[in-house]
Amino acid sequence: MDIAKIRKDFPILKRKINGKRLVYLDNAATSQKPIQVINAISNYYKNYNSNVHRGIHSLAMEATQSYDGTRAKIAKFIGVKDPKEIIFVRNTDEAINLVARSLGNRVIRKGDEILVTIMEHHANFVPWQQLAKEKGAKLKIAPINKEGEIDIVEFKKLLSKKTKFVAFTHVSNVLGTVNDVKRLSTIVHRQSSDAKVLVDGAQAVPHLPFDISKIGCDFYAFSAHKMLGPSGIGVLWGKRELLEVMEPYQLGGDMISKVEIKKSTWAEIPYKFEAGTPNIEGVIGFSAAIDYLNKIGMTNVRKHEIELAKYAFGKLSKIPNLRILGPKDPNKRCGVIAFVLNVGLNGTLRAIPPHDVASIMDSLGIEIRSGYNCVQPLMDSLSIGPIARASFYIYNTEEEIDKFADGLKKVREIFQFNSKVKSQNSKTQLKSQKFNNFKF
Ligand code: PMP
Repeated sequence: MDIAKIRKDFPILKRKINGKRLVYLDNAATSQKPIQVINAISNYYKNYNSNVHRGIHSLAMEATQSYDGTRAKIAKFIGVKDPKEIIFVRNTDEAINLVARSLGNRVIRKGDEILVTIMEHHANFVPWQQLAKEKGAKLKIAPINKEGEIDIVEFKKLLSKKTKFVAFTHVSNVLGTVNDVKRLSTIVHRQSSDAKVLVDGAQAVPHLPFDISKIGCDFYAFSAHKMLGPSGIGVLWGKRELLEVMEPYQLGGDMISKVEIKKSTWAEIPYKFEAGTPNIEGVIGFSAAIDYLNKIGMTNVRKHEIELAKYAFGKLSKIPNLRILGPKDPNKRCGVIAFVLNVGLNGTLRAIPPHDVASIMDSLGIEIRSGYNCVQPLMDSLSIGPIARASFYIYNTEEEIDKFADGLKKVREIFQFNSKVKSQNSKTQLKSQKFNNFKF
C-alpha cells in the first residue's frame, strides 16, 4: 500500500488545524473522503441530476442505473449473491430500527427474550431495549471478559427457547474487539432455533475483508460514511425470505405496487423498504468509495491497520498510567484505541478528563474523539465514565502515531504541572474547568 499516494487523494489531509498539519484520528466516527468520491457526487449534480425510478427520460435513466447498479457492487463487496437483498437506508441506526420495527414488532410477544451484548453501540442497544419494553419482553445482556471479548460461556447460558432476536456487533467501536461473529451466529441458531441474528457491521465493513455468506447471520447493517463514502447512506442486508415477509415501517411514494382508495400493496424488495426520494448522490458517492477500497484491496486495508495498531501499542506502552481498553493482541482487534490517561496527584491516580485530552490534542492539530462514544452501558459496566479514543484508517501513518503519542505526553505534562500547582494552592480536586458543562 502506497500511503503517500493514497494521502494525495484526500484533500482535507492538507489542512492545518491550529497552525499544525491535520492528524485525523477520528475515523471510527467518520472517515475522510477521497477526491474520487467527491468528484462522483459533483459529477452527478453537474451532469445527470434527476430522480430515480420515476422518469423515462435520459437523465432519469442514468440516475436510476447508477443508483440501482450500486446494489450489485455492494452485494459483491460483502459476499451477497442477490442484489435485491441490499436495502438502502440512512445509516446503521436506521437499518437496525428497520429490523426491530418491521420484524421485531410482529414476532416479539410478551415473555419473549432479546439478547444483546454489553459492548453494543447505542444503535444496537436502544431499539431492542425499546422493543422489549413495548412488548413486555425481556432484554438480556451478555457480558464481556477481562480481555474485552464476549464471554462465550455466559452468552450461551443466556440463550433459551424464548430468545427471538440476538444482536451483536462485529467490531466494537470502543474496545476494538473483532468478534467471532460466525461462531456466535452458529451458537444462536443451534441453541435457539427460532431466533434471528442481526450483526452490526458499522466498524467491520470499512476495515475487514469478509464475506457475509460465511457468517450465517440473518441481518447485517453498516454505513457508508465510515468507509470513505458520504453520510446519510447505509445498508441493511437481510435474507430474502425474511425481507419478503417483513412489513415496511415507512409508507408512501416509490415503495408501492398499487394504491387504491381502500388499500395499497407494496412493491417487491428492496423497494418496499425505500419510501420516498432516496439519497441518490449518497449511493453514487458510496459506489465510488467501494471502487476506491476495491482498488486498494481489503486485505491490504486490514494489514495496514494491524501494523498501525502494533506500532501504536509499542509507542503507547512507554506512556505511564495510560489504560487502553480492549484486547492486547493487535490481531484480535481493529485500529481503535480507546484510553484513559491518568495522572498522579497526592499519591493517587486520577483520570484526566477526556474532553481536556481531546482539546489539548486539537490544539496540536490532532483530532480524536472523547465522551461516552455511544456505549454508555459498557462504560457504566466498566465503571469508567467518558473516555478518549483514537482510530485509524488507510491514510494514517506511523509518523502520525508518533505525533499522537507525543501529544499524550504533553497532555500529561500539562496536567501534572497543573495538579502540582493546584494541590499547592488550594488542595482542590483536579477537575476540568473548561468542559464541565459539555454534553456528550
Ligand atoms: N454501531 C457501531 C459499532 C458504531 O461504531 C456506530 C457509529 N459510531 C454505529 C453503530 C452507528 O452508525 P451510524 O451513526 O452511521 O448509524
